[in-house]
Amino acid sequence: MALVVQKYGGTSVGTTDKIRNVAKRVARTYDEGNDVIVIVSAMSGETNKLVALAEEMCEFPSEREYDVLVSTGEQVTIALLSMCLQSMGYKAKSYLGHQIPINTDNASSRARIQNIGEDNIREDLKSGNIVVVAGFQGVDDQGNITTLGRGGSDTSAVAVAAGLSADVCEIYTDVDGVYTTDPRIVADARKIDKISYEEMLEMASLGAKVLQIRSVEFAKKYDVVIHVRSSFNDNPGTLVMKEDAEMETVLVSGVTCNKDEAKISVMRIPDHPGIAADIFSPLTAANITIDMIIQNVSKEGFTDITFTVPKGDLKKALKIVEDTATTIGADEVSSDDKVAKVSIIGVGMRSHSGIASKMFSTLSAEGINIQMISTSEIKVSCVIEDKYTELAVRVLHAAFDLGNGQ
Ligand code: ASP
Ligand code: MG
Repeated sequence: MALVVQKYGGTSVGTTDKIRNVAKRVARTYDEGNDVIVIVSAMSGETNKLVALAEEMCEFPSEREYDVLVSTGEQVTIALLSMCLQSMGYKAKSYLGHQIPINTDNASSRARIQNIGEDNIREDLKSGNIVVVAGFQGVDDQGNITTLGRGGSDTSAVAVAAGLSADVCEIYTDVDGVYTTDPRIVADARKIDKISYEEMLEMASLGAKVLQIRSVEFAKKYDVVIHVRSSFNDNPGTLVMKEDAEMETVLVSGVTCNKDEAKISVMRIPDHPGIAADIFSPLTAANITIDMIIQNVSKEGFTDITFTVPKGDLKKALKIVEDTATTIGADEVSSDDKVAKVSIIGVGMRSHSGIASKMFSTLSAEGINIQMISTSEIKVSCVIEDKYTELAVRVLHAAFDLGNGQ
């Protein structure tokens, strides 16, 4: 007998019929002799609707009430799933975050889980219940409802699995697992059987939307093996787990792309210690996250700096950077939002050379100009003109032999 944690995302609980299907799978797992804890998201589209309602009501809703509102979607699905299980003859009990409790810090709408109360769940499991938990929410030490950021039910599931030392943590979604790239771009994309936490973190932050990044960080920290799989079939999915020797033999595991960033350049900056701080500190103070940064070698005492910001923050960022440029005596600020970032990821890069240059020559063979490059131990990213995104993903996927050969 094992303790199994299963998480079902919004598309898996999007209608009452789909919830019935989920109930069947949960019941099957229970019938196999396991203790089962189920975490559910809101029905697909519901959280977006709640966010829109808040925006409709006022421009700057208070953070506390925002979380009270957007957390309600999950209350609906825990109740519906529990009812369905009960109507099938099973004992089931639903829990909101504060009833468990799932304790978090007080950072509304992006709270971090600090502790999971075990007693209530353990007692219910002992008396034969299937425990159904609302994802995405928790409670701070003042008793306020908090939420964990969009996509946060993944993190709820991993945290519950870690907190109760579950044997299995399955995250059910509408795709069969983690793919070598977006199958909508490359028909030949292949499901990855197992992937390391590090690769998954890079994939998630570079554009793959299968798992919330924080859930992977959590899993890595507490050594929880995540099984990402489809709720619509019984195919084995992808295991997200600690790196093993076999993974190192694969040079590149995946190709991602992301059109969410824009590029800003500051030209002819009088170069002296402190200019980078002058440019970036006001952006950080405005909560704008910077991704890639390039500073040119200075020539005759002047240098250029180019960096990327989230597209949604471009206007705000430009205004701030233009003010700074005037203060520090730079010549010109320009921006470009028609850019995309394509990346290749793989732990094999640590032990194999020539992978970055193969990426560059593959892009150049298609006449794609690289505007910026950044690397880490296990990834290489290039900023290119956005109209080439799909082409770049396709040729890189082929160049690194990632397809299933169909
Ligand atoms: N319902 C929340 C959202 O849409 C949390 C989740 O689905 O994971 O972001
Ligand atoms: Mg999700």
